[in-house]
Amino acid sequence: MQGSGKGTQGKYLAENFGYKIFDTGSALRGIADEGSDLGEKVKGIMNRGELVPTEVVMEVIEDFIHKSGDETPIVFDGLPRNTEQKEQFEQLMNKVNKRPIAILIDISRDLAETRLLIRKICTQCKKIFPGDYGSDTCDEENCNGNLETRSDDNPEAIEKRLDVFFEHTQPIIDQYKNEDNLLVIDGKPSIPEVSELLKNKLSFT
Ligand code: AMP
Repeated sequence: MQGSGKGTQGKYLAENFGYKIFDTGSALRGIADEGSDLGEKVKGIMNRGELVPTEVVMEVIEDFIHKSGDETPIVFDGLPRNTEQKEQFEQLMNKVNKRPIAILIDISRDLAETRLLIRKICTQCKKIFPGDYGSDTCDEENCNGNLETRSDDNPEAIEKRLDVFFEHTQPIIDQYKNEDNLLVIDGKPSIPEVSELLKNKLSFT
Protein backbone atom coordinates (compact mmCIF):
# COMPACT_ATOMS: atom_id res chain seq x y z
CA MET A 1 0.00 0.00 0.00
CA GLN A 2 1.04 3.61 -0.57
CA GLY A 3 2.99 4.99 2.40
CA SER A 4 3.87 1.50 3.65
CA GLY A 5 7.58 2.03 2.99
CA LYS A 6 7.65 -0.39 0.02
CA GLY A 7 10.14 1.81 -1.88
CA THR A 8 12.45 2.07 1.11
CA GLN A 9 12.32 -1.68 1.74
CA GLY A 10 12.91 -2.42 -1.96
CA LYS A 11 16.05 -0.31 -1.70
CA TYR A 12 17.06 -2.27 1.40
CA LEU A 13 16.80 -5.53 -0.57
CA ALA A 14 18.80 -4.04 -3.43
CA GLU A 15 21.57 -2.69 -1.21
CA ASN A 16 21.90 -5.75 1.01
CA PHE A 17 20.94 -8.73 -1.12
CA GLY A 18 21.80 -7.79 -4.69
CA TYR A 19 18.32 -7.22 -6.10
CA LYS A 20 17.59 -4.84 -8.94
CA ILE A 21 14.61 -2.56 -8.38
CA PHE A 22 11.87 -1.75 -10.83
CA ASP A 23 10.00 1.14 -9.17
CA THR A 24 6.82 1.51 -11.21
CA GLY A 25 5.88 4.93 -9.77
CA SER A 26 9.36 6.39 -10.45
CA ALA A 27 9.47 4.94 -13.97
CA LEU A 28 6.08 6.52 -14.69
CA ARG A 29 7.15 9.85 -13.13
CA GLY A 30 10.13 9.71 -15.55
CA ILE A 31 7.70 9.43 -18.48
CA ALA A 32 5.52 12.20 -16.99
CA ASP A 33 8.54 14.54 -16.96
CA GLU A 34 9.49 13.84 -20.60
CA GLY A 35 7.27 16.60 -21.96
CA SER A 36 5.80 14.28 -24.65
CA ASP A 37 2.06 13.87 -25.29
CA LEU A 38 2.16 10.54 -23.48
CA GLY A 39 4.08 12.21 -20.62
CA GLU A 40 1.40 14.89 -20.21
CA LYS A 41 -1.32 12.23 -20.17
CA VAL A 42 0.56 10.15 -17.58
CA LYS A 43 1.23 13.24 -15.43
CA GLY A 44 -2.48 14.11 -15.32
CA ILE A 45 -3.45 10.55 -14.39
CA MET A 46 -0.83 10.37 -11.61
CA ASN A 47 -1.69 13.78 -10.17
CA ARG A 48 -5.32 12.69 -9.92
CA GLY A 49 -4.23 9.53 -8.09
CA GLU A 50 -5.59 7.18 -10.76
CA LEU A 51 -3.90 4.14 -12.30
CA VAL A 52 -1.89 4.59 -15.50
CA PRO A 53 -3.19 2.29 -18.30
CA THR A 54 -1.82 -1.24 -18.09
CA GLU A 55 -0.44 -1.17 -21.65
CA VAL A 56 1.85 1.76 -20.71
CA VAL A 57 2.98 0.05 -17.49
CA MET A 58 3.67 -3.29 -19.22
CA GLU A 59 5.67 -1.63 -21.97
CA VAL A 60 7.98 -0.01 -19.42
CA ILE A 61 8.42 -3.27 -17.52
CA GLU A 62 9.19 -5.28 -20.65
CA ASP A 63 11.77 -2.70 -21.61
CA PHE A 64 13.35 -2.89 -18.13
CA ILE A 65 13.47 -6.70 -18.18
CA HIS A 66 15.03 -6.84 -21.62
CA LYS A 67 17.65 -4.26 -20.68
CA SER A 68 18.45 -5.99 -17.38
CA GLY A 69 18.90 -9.20 -19.43
CA ASP A 70 20.46 -11.42 -16.75
CA GLU A 71 19.56 -13.62 -13.81
CA THR A 72 19.70 -10.90 -11.13
CA PRO A 73 16.55 -11.08 -8.98
CA ILE A 74 14.22 -8.10 -9.34
CA VAL A 75 11.98 -6.30 -6.85
CA PHE A 76 8.94 -4.97 -8.70
CA ASP A 77 7.80 -2.08 -6.52
CA GLY A 78 4.14 -1.09 -6.87
CA LEU A 79 3.02 -3.85 -9.18
CA PRO A 80 0.63 -5.45 -10.05
CA ARG A 81 -2.22 -3.19 -8.93
CA ASN A 82 -5.26 -4.79 -10.53
CA THR A 83 -6.44 -8.08 -12.02
CA GLU A 84 -5.48 -7.13 -15.56
CA GLN A 85 -1.92 -6.29 -14.50
CA LYS A 86 -1.64 -9.48 -12.43
CA GLU A 87 -2.58 -11.59 -15.46
CA GLN A 88 -0.27 -9.78 -17.87
CA PHE A 89 2.58 -9.66 -15.36
CA GLU A 90 2.32 -13.42 -14.79
CA GLN A 91 2.35 -14.08 -18.54
CA LEU A 92 5.48 -11.96 -18.87
CA MET A 93 7.16 -13.69 -15.90
CA ASN A 94 6.41 -17.10 -17.46
CA LYS A 95 7.92 -15.94 -20.71
CA VAL A 96 11.19 -14.94 -19.00
CA ASN A 97 11.18 -17.94 -16.63
CA LYS A 98 10.84 -15.99 -13.40
CA ARG A 99 8.73 -17.14 -10.43
CA PRO A 100 7.52 -14.05 -8.56
CA ILE A 101 6.34 -13.98 -4.96
CA ALA A 102 4.01 -11.24 -3.76
CA ILE A 103 4.93 -9.16 -0.69
CA LEU A 104 2.41 -6.94 1.09
CA ILE A 105 3.79 -4.40 3.54
CA ASP A 106 0.66 -3.96 5.57
CA ILE A 107 -0.49 -0.72 7.23
CA SER A 108 -3.91 0.73 7.99
CA ARG A 109 -5.56 3.32 5.77
CA ASP A 110 -5.30 5.88 8.60
CA LEU A 111 -1.54 5.39 8.93
CA ALA A 112 -1.10 5.55 5.13
CA GLU A 113 -2.97 8.89 5.01
CA THR A 114 -0.90 10.35 7.86
CA ARG A 115 2.41 9.25 6.34
CA LEU A 116 1.60 10.40 2.79
CA LEU A 117 0.49 13.84 3.94
CA ILE A 118 3.75 14.64 5.71
CA ARG A 119 6.45 12.81 3.72
CA LYS A 120 8.80 14.66 1.31
CA ILE A 121 10.65 13.84 -1.92
CA CYS A 122 14.14 15.02 -2.92
CA THR A 123 13.88 17.29 -5.98
CA GLN A 124 17.23 15.92 -7.27
CA CYS A 125 17.52 12.18 -6.62
CA LYS A 126 13.81 11.52 -5.86
CA LYS A 127 14.50 9.74 -2.57
CA ILE A 128 11.44 9.75 -0.28
CA PHE A 129 11.79 11.01 3.31
CA PRO A 130 9.34 10.27 6.13
CA GLY A 131 7.67 13.19 7.92
CA ASP A 132 9.88 12.88 10.98
CA TYR A 133 13.11 13.34 8.94
CA GLY A 134 14.54 16.44 10.58
CA SER A 135 15.99 18.42 7.64
CA ASP A 136 15.02 20.21 4.41
CA THR A 137 17.89 18.72 2.39
CA CYS A 138 18.61 15.23 1.07
CA ASP A 139 21.08 13.02 2.98
CA GLU A 140 22.23 10.94 -0.05
CA GLU A 141 25.96 11.21 -0.69
CA ASN A 142 26.75 14.06 -3.15
CA CYS A 143 23.07 15.01 -3.51
CA ASN A 144 22.09 17.71 -1.00
CA GLY A 145 18.88 18.34 -3.01
CA ASN A 146 15.96 20.28 -1.55
CA LEU A 147 12.95 18.37 -0.30
CA GLU A 148 9.37 19.09 -1.35
CA THR A 149 5.93 17.49 -1.17
CA ARG A 150 5.29 15.04 -4.04
CA SER A 151 2.68 16.41 -6.44
CA ASP A 152 0.32 13.46 -5.83
CA ASP A 153 0.69 13.65 -2.02
CA ASN A 154 -2.19 16.14 -1.71
CA PRO A 155 -5.35 15.22 0.24
CA GLU A 156 -7.59 14.64 -2.83
CA ALA A 157 -5.08 12.46 -4.70
CA ILE A 158 -4.22 10.54 -1.51
CA GLU A 159 -7.90 9.67 -0.95
CA LYS A 160 -8.26 8.62 -4.58
CA ARG A 161 -5.10 6.46 -4.49
CA LEU A 162 -6.26 4.69 -1.33
CA ASP A 163 -9.77 4.18 -2.79
CA VAL A 164 -8.12 2.66 -5.89
CA PHE A 165 -6.02 0.42 -3.64
CA PHE A 166 -9.05 -1.01 -1.83
CA GLU A 167 -11.15 -1.35 -4.98
CA HIS A 168 -8.56 -2.76 -7.40
CA THR A 169 -5.45 -3.94 -5.53
CA GLN A 170 -7.00 -5.58 -2.46
CA PRO A 171 -8.81 -8.21 -4.63
CA ILE A 172 -5.51 -9.38 -6.16
CA ILE A 173 -3.91 -9.49 -2.71
CA ASP A 174 -6.72 -11.88 -1.78
CA GLN A 175 -5.97 -13.91 -4.93
CA TYR A 176 -2.26 -14.18 -4.06
CA LYS A 177 -3.27 -15.30 -0.56
CA ASN A 178 -5.56 -18.00 -1.99
CA GLU A 179 -2.72 -19.10 -4.26
CA ASP A 180 -0.51 -19.36 -1.15
CA ASN A 181 1.96 -16.94 -2.72
CA LEU A 182 1.78 -13.93 -0.39
CA LEU A 183 4.21 -12.74 2.29
CA VAL A 184 2.62 -10.24 4.66
CA ILE A 185 4.96 -7.93 6.58
CA ASP A 186 3.76 -5.58 9.31
CA GLY A 187 4.62 -2.07 8.04
CA LYS A 188 3.85 -0.21 11.30
CA PRO A 189 7.23 -0.46 13.07
CA SER A 190 10.31 1.65 12.32
CA ILE A 191 12.14 1.28 8.97
CA PRO A 192 14.95 -0.96 10.38
CA GLU A 193 12.43 -3.11 12.23
CA VAL A 194 10.39 -3.65 9.05
CA SER A 195 13.62 -4.50 7.18
CA GLU A 196 14.37 -7.12 9.83
CA LEU A 197 10.88 -8.62 9.51
CA LEU A 198 11.30 -8.70 5.73
CA LYS A 199 14.71 -10.32 5.95
CA ASN A 200 13.37 -13.01 8.28
CA LYS A 201 10.34 -13.73 6.08
CA LEU A 202 12.56 -14.06 3.03
CA SER A 203 14.94 -16.24 5.10
CA PHE A 204 18.09 -14.25 4.48
CA THR A 205 20.82 -14.65 7.07
P1 AMP B 1 3.57 5.00 -6.09
O1 AMP B 1 4.84 5.77 -6.18
O2 AMP B 1 3.78 3.53 -6.06
O3 AMP B 1 2.68 5.49 -4.99
O4 AMP B 1 2.78 5.30 -7.46
C1 AMP B 1 2.46 6.62 -7.78
C2 AMP B 1 1.46 6.65 -8.92
O5 AMP B 1 2.04 6.02 -10.08
C3 AMP B 1 0.15 5.88 -8.70
O6 AMP B 1 -0.79 6.65 -7.98
C4 AMP B 1 -0.29 5.63 -10.15
O7 AMP B 1 -0.81 6.81 -10.74
C5 AMP B 1 1.05 5.32 -10.81
N1 AMP B 1 1.35 3.89 -10.73
C6 AMP B 1 2.31 3.29 -9.98
N2 AMP B 1 2.32 1.97 -10.15
C7 AMP B 1 1.33 1.71 -11.05
C8 AMP B 1 0.83 0.53 -11.64
N3 AMP B 1 1.33 -0.69 -11.36
N4 AMP B 1 -0.19 0.65 -12.53
C9 AMP B 1 -0.71 1.84 -12.85
N5 AMP B 1 -0.30 3.01 -12.31
C10 AMP B 1 0.71 2.95 -11.42
